[in-house]
Amino acid sequence: MSKVMYNRVALIGLGLIAGSMSLAMRRAGVAGEITGYARSQATRDTALEINLVDRVCDTAVEAVRDADLVVLAVPVGAMGPVMAEIEATLKPGAIVTDVGSVKKSVLDAVLPHIPEGVQFIGTHPMAGTEHSGPRAGFAELFENRWCLIVPSETADEAEIEKLEAFWSVLGANTERMTPEHHDTVCAVVSHVPHLIAYTMVGVADDLGRVTDQEVIKFSAAGFRDFTRIAASDPTMWRDVFLTNKEAALEILGRFTEELFALQRAIRTGDGDHLHDYFTRTRAIRRGIIEAGQDTDAPDFGRAKKGE
Ligand code: NAP
Repeated sequence: MSKVMYNRVALIGLGLIAGSMSLAMRRAGVAGEITGYARSQATRDTALEINLVDRVCDTAVEAVRDADLVVLAVPVGAMGPVMAEIEATLKPGAIVTDVGSVKKSVLDAVLPHIPEGVQFIGTHPMAGTEHSGPRAGFAELFENRWCLIVPSETADEAEIEKLEAFWSVLGANTERMTPEHHDTVCAVVSHVPHLIAYTMVGVADDLGRVTDQEVIKFSAAGFRDFTRIAASDPTMWRDVFLTNKEAALEILGRFTEELFALQRAIRTGDGDHLHDYFTRTRAIRRGIIEAGQDTDAPDFGRAKKGE
């Protein structure tokens, strides 16, 4: 029996997420044909060389022609312009989805370009590495990770369920959310933590200049983890903060208040406050491991993946 869920899938953008989707789709046999397009010739050449998709196209329009599922896997700020380019070519009955890390601004940018007879269902696979580009993908990326589903208000229930089943086949667990709730949750669990990592590495880099690269030489585990996160793609993360401004600022405000409270505890020698705080946060780490969302293996078992 055929496992094909969508006869033709078009991937717009051929980076970490699209590449991993292509490899996972092939492994599961859920796509009849996978077409792909990326903006630069260099990326398209690499995709061709490593056989990342079945057909690499020279334009986004060519890639989406006759596609049943169109996946926007470009930085969040590029979603609207890409949609403007392809809207006239989308076939009636097609489903357009995206994998962007922010949802409200993507829906606002994309929905005006969704033609009659085409439906938009946003998704966000909560999986990634600090690597990007067409060579970064691997089929296991989504396994046991969450994929948040953010449908447009007019999307058919049957199509939403089909897309959820598609992500399940790629290995992910799915949950539906409104765009606003999605953006707040992601500001807490992903966006602001990335900003903090960027800041810490920036501070250490400034110090490194005056202490003769000691930061790199004596880099301990805490800082090393920050540097891994802070190595994430600058374009993607610029767009995340430009488009999830409100939620990011709200969470950053709370973060700053807590930081001041800890700063005060250090200054006044309030060991009980520090100990209580660190005890509470330690329990959260345990909860994440128990929920199967990370491992307590050395280096969290990441060294083998995506290196
Ligand atoms: P990536 O590896 O940097 O790939 C981005 C791809 O988009 C590249 O192929 C790039 O082409 C292409 N692109 C950029 N602008 C374009 C445009 N205007 N038209 C056509 N193609 C364009 O990024 P990624 O990590 O896969 O991220 C893709 C999306 O997934 C982003 O929206 C991101 O927020 C989201 N996401 C990322 C992660 C993560 O951890 N990385 C996790 C979940 C969701 P060139 O190579 O030619 O520039």
